[in-house]
Amino acid sequence: MTQTTLRVNEHGLVQHADLQHLITALHDKGYQVIGPTLQDSAVVYDEIDSIADLPAGWTDEQDGGTYRLKRRDDAALFGYTNSPQSWKKFLHPPRRRLWQAQREDAESDFVFMPENGTLPRYAFLGVRACELNAIAIQNTVFTKGPFIDPMFKALHDAAFIVAVNCIQAGGTCFCASMDSGPHVHSGFDLALTELIDADRHVFLVEVGSRRGAEIMEQVPFEPAQEHDLAAVRRIESAVADDMGRTMDTTDIKQFLYDNVNHPRWDDVANRCLTCSNCTIVCPTCFCTTVEDVTDLTGNQAERWQRWDSCFTLDFAYIHGGSVRALARDRYRQWMTHKLASWIDQFDSSGCVGCGRCITWCPVGIDITEEVHAMRESDTTSAEISTLNMV
Ligand code: SF4
Ligand code: SF4
Repeated sequence: MTQTTLRVNEHGLVQHADLQHLITALHDKGYQVIGPTLQDSAVVYDEIDSIADLPAGWTDEQDGGTYRLKRRDDAALFGYTNSPQSWKKFLHPPRRRLWQAQREDAESDFVFMPENGTLPRYAFLGVRACELNAIAIQNTVFTKGPFIDPMFKALHDAAFIVAVNCIQAGGTCFCASMDSGPHVHSGFDLALTELIDADRHVFLVEVGSRRGAEIMEQVPFEPAQEHDLAAVRRIESAVADDMGRTMDTTDIKQFLYDNVNHPRWDDVANRCLTCSNCTIVCPTCFCTTVEDVTDLTGNQAERWQRWDSCFTLDFAYIHGGSVRALARDRYRQWMTHKLASWIDQFDSSGCVGCGRCITWCPVGIDITEEVHAMRESDTTSAEISTLNMV
């Protein structure tokens, strides 16, 4: 008898020619499907209608300050590694209006109008293991504390996640060191692994939720065999062994706290342009600022939230000046927050090892190299100061 349904934790095999049914089923359920596309010589997450929109046969080459697309010698749809943008731009948009206020004229009272329009229901196609962890980290930041970001929560809770296991590691990836990849284990509705060779082009699908099982009712599949699961395990192991970077995270929190005065902070400050690229591309960085704008009559006002960065002088400005005046202070704040004080704040690392901050740093500053250099000459500070660390 032919198997027609899959339950949670079960696996099926979908032919390349049938993957379109997945996108169609998501559309039919009312999701706006977002996936990888080729734009501006990069892989960019954007709305897609069909598998023809995916970057078939493309991969990328990444190193410190370097990103370039190149052709693969097969037609893999997910044969690239991390793209410059993460899913953060959809769940925590770079710019959003928080409220408006209007009045008829100078004699009238303002009427406040919060933003409460309908939010999209996204289906993300192609979420990698490190990115899934980054989404979970931002979910903790935005929804597990005393103040909940209602927009993030609504977008996050409605999103359908189709994860994709990496079939190759990128030059700047180190998710294996951060225990956040390369294989997805939870937090998805469906997870795909692309299996491609001379004889076949198929996707092994794992169902992660009841929503995922419902969608799979619309997608033709065959039962997965033990040799298919073994092929996935081999890919996972090969990708983990092929990471472009590694980071020694042993006792990293205390190590960084103990080295707040390490001379390496001055060394990196001589190279850092404080351009903020690393924070903008980072899938876990979440800081924002707000700006108020009014029209010329003074009868219309709006408050906008936009991404900010701990690399700007204004970010740490308090009465009398910035508390992080030097590039050294700002880089140290960023890296120590990512790898140490984040653990105190949110009970996890703030870094998932996606490598974006290395690839997109214009001068190729590499967080793994900075940790390595500091470990080579540990100067455990006698006078430990956590000033500026939070
Ligand atoms: S580390 Fe690189 S990307 Fe980050 S602020 Fe400095 S120069 Fe810019
Ligand atoms: S700090 Fe760098 S490697 Fe770590 S999650 Fe952010 S962008 Fe990725």
